[in-house]
Amino acid sequence: MFERLENRYFFRGELVLENEMHIGSGKGDGTTDALVVKDFSDKPIIPGSSLRGILRSTIERIASSLGKNPCMLTSINCVTNSRVLQDEFKKLLEEKDSSKIMAFLNNNSKICPVCRLFGSTVVASKIRVTDLLLRNERSNTSIRHGVGINRDTETSQDKAKFDFEVVPRGSRFSLELIGENLTNDDLALLAVGIQEMSNGNFWIGGNTARGLGKCRLEKLEIKYFSDADRLKKYLRDGEKGLDSLPLNEFYACINTLV
Ligand SMILES: [Zn+2]
Repeated sequence: MFERLENRYFFRGELVLENEMHIGSGKGDGTTDALVVKDFSDKPIIPGSSLRGILRSTIERIASSLGKNPCMLTSINCVTNSRVLQDEFKKLLEEKDSSKIMAFLNNNSKICPVCRLFGSTVVASKIRVTDLLLRNERSNTSIRHGVGINRDTETSQDKAKFDFEVVPRGSRFSLELIGENLTNDDLALLAVGIQEMSNGNFWIGGNTARGLGKCRLEKLEIKYFSDADRLKKYLRDGEKGLDSLPLNEFYACINTLV
């Protein structure tokens, strides 16, 4: 699009389930009401969009405690929620003046830090997450029996019984997250979310209130290029041409959040 490729960061690791997980496919079969989402080889997966959404809300919640007010949780003006700013942005896009567009996208009073990183219906996201494939050779999913609670009387109702499939604890999924044109602020916010994932303060899928879907990021590695020379090296040599970002340096970004 209009943006030049300034840098690209590859975050790779393994997401390990510390409890059973249910991400519904929206389908059932003759015996189970809710099956988990699976790939073509019938192995459970974690859709990249699910992980991205939880990462976003994790960052959103913490960002607002660190003075980086996201528009979702505060009433600040952001191109995502302001008609006036949307019209202004649309005009800039029509003019195709990339320096003005960049200035708009880097202006804190035009776009909130979380929309700048994760995008919205109006602006593109800087973050992509590939669907997370199961690393284990096979997965022995099992069926859990849930009982619906009547919210009015708080009694369990026989009629509300339902069965759902879960992926077992200990399952490992490959995680790949790619960030492009990240600023220091973007990296700092991302470090907050990824740190939460590494600390195991991360829940994915359904029934998380009951502890389901607790997971932890392990074996994280960060590789990147951040200038034209390094980009050429990457294009020429592939993965070998990338620089490594040590984890302590990455997490140190958090201190720069003001
Ligand atoms: Zn926003």
